[in-house]
Amino acid sequence: MKKHINIALDGPSGSGKSTLAKGLSQKLDILYLDTGAMYRAAALKAARLGIDCLDEQAVGSFIDDIDLKIEYIDGIQHTILDGRDVSSEIRKNEISMKASEISSLRPVRLKMVELQRKIASEMSCIVDGRDIGSYVLPDAEYKFYITADSSVRAERRRRELLQKGEDVPFEKLKSEIERRDYNDSHREFAPLVKAADAVEINTSSMSEEEVLQKVLSFVRW
Ligand code: C5P
Repeated sequence: MKKHINIALDGPSGSGKSTLAKGLSQKLDILYLDTGAMYRAAALKAARLGIDCLDEQAVGSFIDDIDLKIEYIDGIQHTILDGRDVSSEIRKNEISMKASEISSLRPVRLKMVELQRKIASEMSCIVDGRDIGSYVLPDAEYKFYITADSSVRAERRRRELLQKGEDVPFEKLKSEIERRDYNDSHREFAPLVKAADAVEINTSSMSEEEVLQKVLSFVRW
């Protein structure tokens, strides 16, 4: 049995990465690191300070000293900002667009990537993001690139937000998702890209269980 393993899950927003990561985490009994939560926390911090997420100079003034920690309680990730658990607050839809913006800034990515590499080197984990297999963990044992059509992703996101009591129109979510796709794949530094050695899975017409089984069929652990 291997002592340490990293599984990289990349792909656009709403492609099913986090559902898959949670399933894998249970099946393989290793922790799940949601890197999007870290960019969301950075965006929340900027919002609290009244800073525009695209203002590189203003963001640069706080990002190096951001008090951001990832903790696990009963195997579940908790994102702690300035000593408080912001795991629910960062999931609000208004933070999604801001996270997409702030994540395009180089100083933000350098800071988050440093934290991510440290966590992934200290524990076996499933890491979901946009640049994990291509940039953060190029030596990850397994790499998957998870995609789905934007309409399917918007519908999934709508259901997810509704479950949390947030009712956002489908069309709004679809156009936001497409804008985030554009931002993620066009940023200069560490954009969303499929690593050459990643296995690509389009989940548009697959059930959660089918996606999980497909990925498990590759993993030896
Ligand atoms: O995955 P999630 O939607 O929570 O991520 C929020 C935002 O953070 C994304 O829209 C993306 O722009 C950014 N992100 C990133 N790199 C990662 C993870 C997330 O740029 N590794």
